[in-house]
Amino acid sequence: MILRYDSLTSLTFYGGVNEIGGNKILLEDKDTRVFLDFGKGFTRRAKYFENFINPRVTNGITDFLTMGLVPDIPGIYRDDLLELGGKKPEEPEIDAVLLTHAHSDHADYISFLNEKIPVYMGKGCELILKSLADRGRNFEREILDYSPKPYKYGTKPIPRDVRTFRTGDKFTVGSLEVEPIHVDHSVPGAYGFIIYTSEGPVVYTGDLRLHGTNSQMTWDFVEKTTDAKPIAMITEGTRIDIPMKKESEETVFGDSYKIVSNTNRLVLADFNFKDIDRLRTFYNIAQQTGRKLVIKLNDAHFLKHLEEDEHLDIPKLDDEHIAIYLPKRKSGKYDDKDYTEKERQFLNLNNVWTADEIAQNEANSVCCIGFYSFTSLIDMNLEPGAQYIHSASEPYNEEQEISQDRVDAWLEHFSMDRHQSHCSGHATGTDLLEIVKNIAPKSIYPVHTEHPEIYQKSVENTILIKECMKYPL
Ligand SMILES: [Zn+2]
Ligand SMILES: [Zn+2]
Repeated sequence: MILRYDSLTSLTFYGGVNEIGGNKILLEDKDTRVFLDFGKGFTRRAKYFENFINPRVTNGITDFLTMGLVPDIPGIYRDDLLELGGKKPEEPEIDAVLLTHAHSDHADYISFLNEKIPVYMGKGCELILKSLADRGRNFEREILDYSPKPYKYGTKPIPRDVRTFRTGDKFTVGSLEVEPIHVDHSVPGAYGFIIYTSEGPVVYTGDLRLHGTNSQMTWDFVEKTTDAKPIAMITEGTRIDIPMKKESEETVFGDSYKIVSNTNRLVLADFNFKDIDRLRTFYNIAQQTGRKLVIKLNDAHFLKHLEEDEHLDIPKLDDEHIAIYLPKRKSGKYDDKDYTEKERQFLNLNNVWTADEIAQNEANSVCCIGFYSFTSLIDMNLEPGAQYIHSASEPYNEEQEISQDRVDAWLEHFSMDRHQSHCSGHATGTDLLEIVKNIAPKSIYPVHTEHPEIYQKSVENTILIKECMKYPL
């Protein structure tokens, strides 16, 4: 590789290097500086923190900076977080963040960025982020707006400068022209980018796959980027070490349909609600087996917001095959006051079920509750023989790691059968190499992977990235 020190265009990687997720990629072109994603690095965070030891809100950005969870560069963070860390506010020195999709490992640490920095995202991505925000606030997930710290009761959240796009809508940021193109991933509203810099086009894949329900979208991306003749491609490599595998959403449907249609007992389906393909799969199973899909109260926000996007084709909240599970809280008596203001809007719907009602209708339910709602099993008073379908991704990445041993202990206690049925949000190694071969960029920068060296074996000009090093283009 010849480094061109006279180049005014460069890439610097502040996350996603030898780790899955946590992508934070700085692209500089003349005077323009944009971040491609600004995600939370789960592995890195878990190295120092866990349940009862967390970065402190009272210290603003300092705990994150000191422990290397976010980069120490000037002109990017919120005034309140700098001030809490004993630093002076700074004028933003970044022109935009280009967000590929709503998964935490790409989006969450936008929470800490100065609100004046525009954040570009797909329309579908914004709807997912709205649903997540309604589900509950969290210091490390305040992307569309944030509550200034230290938190004072009654303070209004400060909105961020969010700019949405649809596939193919080109826009400019300083010297850059950006073309977002949809890709298929395990969340709707996922995009890759072609960024036209002064040195030539740079491609960023975000997260993608070729074996999903909407693989054509990824092929659209491959086709457009191939035509662009990119000088550099930043590519994900989550499963670069996994060769060809037989997996598809249809297989998940087929396997799970069999389980549901062969029992007259309760079925629990445990999947990530942001995965709308999976939601549709289990909804279709419920519909075709004459059952109701029982969703959690806080997941009702997803159906409410995603209804706005007619492309998504998801059931409405009052659909005859949807019920909403009302958990027991505070008073233990299902009092309206036990629920958040945002949840109360759902309480008057006539398809709201308590644990008792689910138990009475167990032969008519596919209940989408996961490990964190397993205490509801106590209220259901289940007889042995209910079925549990684990339909979520490998541990690590988007979801928090959970103890599979503990899940199994609950299943054993209630004598439930366990099934596994899943198809990944990420392309296999075979597919990733096929994508790169098609696009034929001059050089590739593997991110979001623990095995960038596998790319190097098959692709000429693979650059094994060192974190924080500037790569001129
Ligand atoms: Zn990711
Ligand atoms: Zn993702």
